[in-house]
Formats: sequence, C-alpha cells, structure tokens
Amino acid sequence: MMNLAADLKRQAALNLYRTRNILESPQGPEVVIDNQRYLSFCSNDYLGLANHPRLVEALQQGALKFGVGSGASHLINGHSIAHHQLEEQLAAYTGRPRALLFSTGYMANLGVMSALAQRGDMVCEDRLNHASLIDAGLLSGARLRRYAHGDTGTLANQLGEYSGRQIFIASDGVFSMDGDLAPLPALSKIARQNNACLMIDDAHGFGVIGPGGRGTLDHYGFDINEVSILVCTLGKALGTFGAFVAGSEELIETLIQHARTYIYTTALPPAIAYATSVSMTLLNQETWRREHLFMLIKRFHIGAQQLGIPIQASETPIQPLIVGEAQTALKMSQALRDAGILITAIRPPTVAQGSARLRITFCAGHSETDVDRLLSALDLTVKKFL
Ligand SMILES: *Cc1c(COP(=O)(O)O)cnc(C)c1O
Repeated sequence: MMNLAADLKRQAALNLYRTRNILESPQGPEVVIDNQRYLSFCSNDYLGLANHPRLVEALQQGALKFGVGSGASHLINGHSIAHHQLEEQLAAYTGRPRALLFSTGYMANLGVMSALAQRGDMVCEDRLNHASLIDAGLLSGARLRRYAHGDTGTLANQLGEYSGRQIFIASDGVFSMDGDLAPLPALSKIARQNNACLMIDDAHGFGVIGPGGRGTLDHYGFDINEVSILVCTLGKALGTFGAFVAGSEELIETLIQHARTYIYTTALPPAIAYATSVSMTLLNQETWRREHLFMLIKRFHIGAQQLGIPIQASETPIQPLIVGEAQTALKMSQALRDAGILITAIRPPTVAQGSARLRITFCAGHSETDVDRLLSALDLTVKKFL
C-alpha cells in the first residue's frame, strides 16, 4: 500500500497542502465562513449572477417544470427541451451553427480532444493552459507539445518540424491564473499557415470580454473562420453550471458520435439549463454589470500604481499579485483573512514553482469602497511580506 500519510506530510512541509473553506452563505462579494463575514475576491462569478434573484427563481421554476435529475445521458433519453433551447441560444450568441452542452468545462475539453485527435496527430498547447486542456491533450493519444507562455515563435517552429496528420493548437482565451489574453492574431495566423485546427477555451472570457461580453474571439473580431472550436464554461460569468462547445454542424455531430465525456455521463439537470437561459437574458439586459466590473478593475489599477503594489498588466477581472514562494503567498493570504478579506493563495502545481500568487478576482457585485478596502489591506500586507 502506498504511504499516503508520508506523502501528505511532505505536501504540508512544502507549504503545498490544500484545505477547503466551508461557505455558509451564497457565493458573492461577501461570504460567511465559520460565522465570520469576509469581503471576498476569489470567485469566478464575475457578473455576480450566481445568486441573482431571477436565476434563483428560474431554477425553482425549472425544477417545477422538469424535476431535478435528468435521469439519463443525452443519447439515451436525458436530452430535455431545456437543454436543447439553451444550445440554440448559445449557438446564436456565439454566432456559430451549433452548440453542444457538456456537464463541465473539464469534460468538454476532454471530450473534444478525445473525439478529434488521435495517435499520429499533434496537439500544441501553451504551457499555462488550464489543466483540463493539458489533460485533454495527454489523454487524446496524440503527441502533446507545449510552448512557453505566449511564445508563438516556438509554436511556429514546432509546427514547421511536423509532417504527420492533423495538428491542433489549443489555448485558453483568458489565462486563468494570469488574466492575460491569448495572442489570438498570431495563433490564428500560424494555424492558417500550417493548416492546423485552432481550439480556444474561453472559460474566463465568455460573458466578460469583448463587445456584449461575447468573449475573447469577439474582442479580436474573430469568428469561426479563425477559431473552429470554441469551448466555454457556464459556471463562471454565467453564474450557473456546465459548459458548451460551439462550432460547425459537422463538429457538433462528430462530438455527439464520439466524445466519450458527452456520451457516457448523465445529462446535467434540465433546471440548470433552464436557469442558464435566464442568465443569457441577463447578460444582454444588465449591461451595467460589465461596465461596473471594468470600472472597478480600472480603479484597482490606478490605486495599485499609486501605492506601488506590484500587480500585472491584466485587463480582465483576474488580477494576480505574484509573490514567489508558496509560504509567502500563504502568509499574505492569512494576514488578509485576519483583516476580513478573502483571497486564495495559488501555489504549485497550479502555477509554476516560484510564481505563487494571490489571485484577486473582481465581480460586478463589488463596490468602489470594496476596492478601496482591498487596496489598503494589500498595501499593508505587501509592505510587511514583500
Ligand atoms: C474553469 C476552467 C475550466 C473548467 O470548467 P468547469 O466547468 O469548471 O469544469 C476549463 N478551462 C478553463 C480555462 C477554466 O478556467
């Protein structure tokens, strides 16, 4: 038997041991843990929809209409009209012929790669891609090559050396731990030149970035001609749960036939799909949410600059404060917590060795006062620990 206890001890000694907070409140700008209220900067609920009264009501209505469980996989008999209508809505919103719901973004990425890439193919990925994209590349059986973050020169060389079958280039649209955008113009050019298929996982861009929150592709003015496979999650800005892939008729039909994480799993509860349709409506109606969010980000940048807090150039709600050692990140996170502010310390292997960080995220539910309180607390913490 493996020595689990020794391994856990080693994790702890390296300051890499992970524990969970137990939330006693809904997700939001303020959360309750152990009877204490905290101002929180660590959710991906960017538009503040996770606890929106209209979504809560929609979920209740959905449950009354469709029950709770879907009762089967999509292909057996679990595909409800609530799923189907949401797929049509998502296809229209992303400007693509079809969209296909998956239970999670993780499963969507595994499903796409396992259905499309095979032994003899090559998958190229940015080193900082989300774990689910990296795992998807590894599990596909194709040859996985990684390039340094944003290093499209190396990517071009990797493709130039390859003379096999199909090539896939897969990238996050917005990098989840750094908040920067993928260099889409260069990626799409390289893909075109090498006849490669470009897949973008826009988990953190969808609903937030670009005109109308349509995502990173729209930010660059790109569509299905440049990026043939688009993956987005619904558990972040959309405030619900699940994910989808959007693309051509043929892509979606191929996934229905071959994506194992689509075929061999229970369809997500139809009430969730029903509520997500309302999320899509709110995305269009409550445009103030995005405007307010970007105003907060700007305020944070100006404040951080004035105080000399060393943040990155990210223009998204993800604002990392890179501190280096895991232990420093933990200590800073704890000091902030003592001051009533919740920011998770992100450590290896989620990020590279020596780049542990506080990952600050903003939501539409935050106020300007919240940002100012964060800035003062960060200022004190940075002066003490960095
Ligand atoms: C969160 C995330 C995922 C996983 O999505 P889930 O729906 O939470 O499984 C996939 N890719 C990226 C880039 C993410 O940030």
